Amino acid sequence: MKKFSFIIFSLVIGTAIFLRPAAGSEKTLVCVSILPQKYFVESIGGGFVDVSVMVSPGANPHDYEPTPAQMKMLSASKIYFALGDPFEDAWLKKISATNQNLKIIHTEDGILKKPIDRHESIALYDKKTEPISQPDHDHGIYDPHIWLSPPLVMLQARNIVAALEREMPDQREFFETNYQRFINQLVELDASLRLLFKDDANKQFIIFHPSWGYFADAYNLKQIAIEIEGKEPKAKEIAQLIQYAKAHGISAIFVQPQFSTKQADSIAKEINAKLVPANDLAENWMENIKAVASSIKQALR
Ligand code: ZN
Repeated sequence: MKKFSFIIFSLVIGTAIFLRPAAGSEKTLVCVSILPQKYFVESIGGGFVDVSVMVSPGANPHDYEPTPAQMKMLSASKIYFALGDPFEDAWLKKISATNQNLKIIHTEDGILKKPIDRHESIALYDKKTEPISQPDHDHGIYDPHIWLSPPLVMLQARNIVAALEREMPDQREFFETNYQRFINQLVELDASLRLLFKDDANKQFIIFHPSWGYFADAYNLKQIAIEIEGKEPKAKEIAQLIQYAKAHGISAIFVQPQFSTKQADSIAKEINAKLVPANDLAENWMENIKAVASSIKQALR
């Protein structure tokens, strides 16, 4: 019993010490749009940042609206790390009008976003259709899912470290050390994924919402989405998809927790495939990428 109390005591004290900002400094309040970005910013900012996430787990980031409490929290923040997802635009404008001190950092700077490829939608896969010219409701013209590709995360990390160093120049060395460690981890991850998929060039996997396109690009895979430009497919398109999946021996359909799986489920039943989770908003980004990569590896056809 005594030992137990001591452990509790140590935990309380330990936590208190851990949570306290380093001597002579305050934690800087920063915001990010989605959970994986929290992983990136904390990997570099360590104990000097207090990261708030706008889109709660389980929510669909592409049609997100901040709550009044979040608007308030945003107004106390120093930095907003944006991704360039169209959902950010409307209210970031509003926020920067009320909080002049909020620096909006575009972590997507330097990344060439690709158009949401209509060819990734199975119904259009065999026809070469013209590129999208009208922004769609969910994503705009460009694919926003840049946080799921390790090489693109390296670029986002550069923008994050630069912003943190500008905001807290005294901690430059600390951020720089963390940045280098993080980049080394990403390089290692990227190398292991290139090895994993080295014999799989142009192999395909089917997914409900097309969030793994940049990941697929990085490792020469093909993502085929059930959703077409953010919308559920029509009966005719589903029929085409089923035909295609049967012809290619597809045995898995990837689904994300924040999207309804009803349609994916009925397609899976039809082609005798299983639904496999591919979370694109996991908090432990590194572990999640590895887990999804190994599921994709097994499903490739
Ligand atoms: Zn998405």
